[in-house]
Amino acid sequence: MAELRFSYGVMSAGKSTLALQVEHTWSEAGRTGVLLTSHDRGGSGTVTSRLGLSRDAVEVAPDTDLFALLAEAVPDGGFVVADEAQFYAPVQIDDLARCVDERDVDVACFGLLSDFTGRLFPAGARLVELADVLVPLPLPVLCWCGRAARLNARLVDGVVVREGEQVLLGDTASTGGALFGPDVRYQVLCRRHWVSRQTARS
Ligand SMILES: [Zn+2]
Repeated sequence: MAELRFSYGVMSAGKSTLALQVEHTWSEAGRTGVLLTSHDRGGSGTVTSRLGLSRDAVEVAPDTDLFALLAEAVPDGGFVVADEAQFYAPVQIDDLARCVDERDVDVACFGLLSDFTGRLFPAGARLVELADVLVPLPLPVLCWCGRAARLNARLVDGVVVREGEQVLLGDTASTGGALFGPDVRYQVLCRRHWVSRQTARS
């Protein structure tokens, strides 16, 4: 029975690594499917994991007709592995659900639940509304204080910010900044340190 699954976690929780593993496992089993991504840290049309793995993928743009694209790319009964699903448009999540219900396509989505302001991404919210199965990623990611990290903080030139574009690419490692404008990076924090904007023991 095909399902729409959403595996969610904070940054650094190993989402892309798991997405690549699931794609590999289903392909090895002889199934046909497609790997989707959006705004991967490795560039357009690639899924890259922090462990060094990377794989070509289909880039989902805001105006991509996902139902039509998947009608071409995936046979009935096939699969879709959708990484960085928080960046998709909510209507594209509806398209994925339609593929499950009308075409028996298994869909495994991976992504962040909330953005740097602590609010749900629109696509994350849509996945919570529509998914058959919600799966928190199994690896505990820790705040610097040792508590479980629950929120992604955006740091611009080392300072936690709460305002700005919802999507601003940066990784959990420093970009170096300077040459390319401000240094944007992300750090996962527990709720109390996300609230107090404390990114290290003082
Ligand atoms: Zn903490």
